[in-house]
Amino acid sequence: MTATLIDGKAFAATVRGKVATHVARLKEAQGITPGLAVVLVGDDPASEVYVRSKGKQTVEVGMNSYEHKLPAETSEEDLLALIERLNADKDVHGILVQLPLPAHLDEALVINAINPAKDVDGFHISNVGLLGTGQKAMVPCTPLGCLMMLRDHHGSLSGLNAVVIGRSNIVGKPMAQLLLGDSCTVTVAHSRTKDLPEVVKRADIVVAAVGRAHFVQGDWIKPGASVIDVGINRIPAPEKGSHEDGSVKTRLVGDVDFEAAKDVAGAITPVPGGVGPMTIACLLANTLTACCRVHGLAEPEGLTA
Ligand code: NDP
Repeated sequence: MTATLIDGKAFAATVRGKVATHVARLKEAQGITPGLAVVLVGDDPASEVYVRSKGKQTVEVGMNSYEHKLPAETSEEDLLALIERLNADKDVHGILVQLPLPAHLDEALVINAINPAKDVDGFHISNVGLLGTGQKAMVPCTPLGCLMMLRDHHGSLSGLNAVVIGRSNIVGKPMAQLLLGDSCTVTVAHSRTKDLPEVVKRADIVVAAVGRAHFVQGDWIKPGASVIDVGINRIPAPEKGSHEDGSVKTRLVGDVDFEAAKDVAGAITPVPGGVGPMTIACLLANTLTACCRVHGLAEPEGLTA
C-alpha cells in the first residue's frame, strides 16, 4: 500500500470532540444547550438504526436529543404540524427528517417545511440555493465530511482538478459546489459521461458517489490522487460463512476497488471507516453551527464549509 489511509473513524472522533468542547463552553458561558430533533416516520429497520445512532451520539457530545417516532400511516398534515411545532421550539436548533419517507408523503414538501436555519441536513431549497451561490448555508453532512477530510489532507485545495462521480442532490451536486467553493476545477460525472476512466485519470481528487461496488478501477486513478469513497454497498462474503438460515453472510464495500486503488492513490478512504462515520459527526457539527447562528454567537472553527 502506498496511499495514506484517511481514517474517517478517527477523524469523526476528533470532530465529535471539538463539538463536545464547544457545546460545554456554550452551556457554561451562555446557558445554552444545542438540541437536535430527529423525526422518523415508519419502521424501516435501516432508518431505525441510523436514528438510534444519531440520538446516542447527540447525547454523547452534550446536546439534547429529541426523537419523534411516528407510525408509517402518519398523514402529511400531521407531519407538517409536527415540523411547525419544532420550527417554533426554541430548544430545537436542528431538525432532521429521516429519509426515505413512506410513499404517500411528499419528501420535497416536507423538507421545505423545515425552517432553513434549522435544516441541519442542508436539503431545504433555500440552503441548496445559498450553497450554489457561495453564501453561508447549512451544508449536507456527507459532502461536508468529505470536504473536511480533503482539507485536512491537502491544506489548500485551490487549483486542484476534482472529479465527482455521481450527481445526486444529497452527495454529488453539493460535493461539487463545495469543491468549487474551495477553488478546485470540478468535473461532475454521471451515468452518461463518456470515457469515464480518462476523466478520472485527470483528477487530483476523486469523489466516488455511485452506489456500485468496486466500480472505480485502480488503473483509472492518477498516481498520487486523493480518493474519497462515499459508496456503501453490501456484497456477499462467502469467506465469512453463512447465517443460521443458510444465507451467505455479507460485507460492506465502497464504490472504489480499494485493493487496486490503494497502490496508486496518494490518499484513500476505506469502507467501512471512511466517509460513513463522518456523516453523523457533521450532523452534530451542523446542529452546533445552527445553534451558534441563531444566537448570533461565533461559529465553531473548522466545523463548517
Ligand atoms: P444516487 O443513486 O442518488 O446517485 C448515484 C449517482 O451515480 C447518479 O448520479 C448516477 O448517474 C451515477 N451513476 C450510476 N451509474 C453510473 C455509471 N455507470 N457511471 C457513472 N455514474 C453513474 O446515490 P447517492 O448519491 O444517494 O449515493 C451514492 C452512494 O453513496 C451510495 O452507495 C450510497 O449508499 C452512498 N451514501 C453514503 C453516505 C455515507 O454517509 N457514507 C451518505 C449518502 C450516500 P445518473 O444521475 O446519470 O443516474
